[in-house]
Amino acid sequence: MSLLIVGTVAFDAVETPHGKVGRMLGGAATYSAVAASYFAPVRLVSVVGEDFTHREHAVFRGRPIDTGGLERAPGRSFFWSGRYTADMNDRVTLDTQLNVLAEFDPKLPEHYRDSPFVFLSNLQPKVQHGVLRQMRRKPRLVALDTMNYWIEGALAELRAVLRRVHVLLINDAEARQLSGRHNLLDAAERIHAMGPRVVVIKRGEHGAILVRGRRVFSVPGMPLRRVFDPTGAGDSFAGGFLGVLAASARLDEVALRRAMIYGSVMGSFAVEKFGLERLRRLTRKEIRARARQFQELTRFEL
Ligand code: AMP
Repeated sequence: MSLLIVGTVAFDAVETPHGKVGRMLGGAATYSAVAASYFAPVRLVSVVGEDFTHREHAVFRGRPIDTGGLERAPGRSFFWSGRYTADMNDRVTLDTQLNVLAEFDPKLPEHYRDSPFVFLSNLQPKVQHGVLRQMRRKPRLVALDTMNYWIEGALAELRAVLRRVHVLLINDAEARQLSGRHNLLDAAERIHAMGPRVVVIKRGEHGAILVRGRRVFSVPGMPLRRVFDPTGAGDSFAGGFLGVLAASARLDEVALRRAMIYGSVMGSFAVEKFGLERLRRLTRKEIRARARQFQELTRFEL
């Protein structure tokens, strides 16, 4: 089944202990669409500026990604820059330039409006909400991701759209910020009360947990020898997670757990090279092999 993804398509400048890249293709929707496209057909909604050329567009070509909803506007594309700490668990945002995103008011192509799976990836909550309002019928699953920038700058709009969301994917620091609770189970409980009945908390190299009422499922982080660039790991996780759910069209506990593994698989690949370099060149065999590695990581007997 198709997965509609709305979010940023961007240029990023990133500094990690392994090096510095002044300008490369990024954006939450770019990472999540590429990751999801290994599993399910994607319908992309975003906006780019005049600086986005056919060279950047190539990342979507040859994949089941419909770019009919990728608008081009006068001006520059969204730009973000960040620097990671030495252990790469934390980062600081150095600059966020909304550019064409500031005026973005997407109009969904007609055939997007009955998408059964919708991922409102990171961007203005009011735009996320605007996309939901254009759906012809209620999607089977609506998932949302957000970050500190919007929690700080657009909390009321975020809380409004959260009421219509089934799954919130969020990192640990942002789950704490949104809920005002430090303990992650308490944080998830608070977030359940805001709308999402499933909360997926991404914990960087420590893996991810899924909380659904009293049920908790935890996936470890894949121990990797080299982490080059954590940018986009969370979005790639979300793409894998939702791509797998959309492909199987199942939403039960078994499907959610499987989705957590494939989310972790895609996140772990994303960090192995700068930008989208690793993520865009994967094979099914590599994806499957890493999923097996995850299975082995915690296999034990009592
Ligand atoms: P992640 O590392 O998964 O949290 O996401 C990194 C990506 O998010 C980068 O490629 C950025 O272009 C994009 N990004 C950064 N800040 C924002 C923001 N405020 N809204 C939407 N996307 C953003």
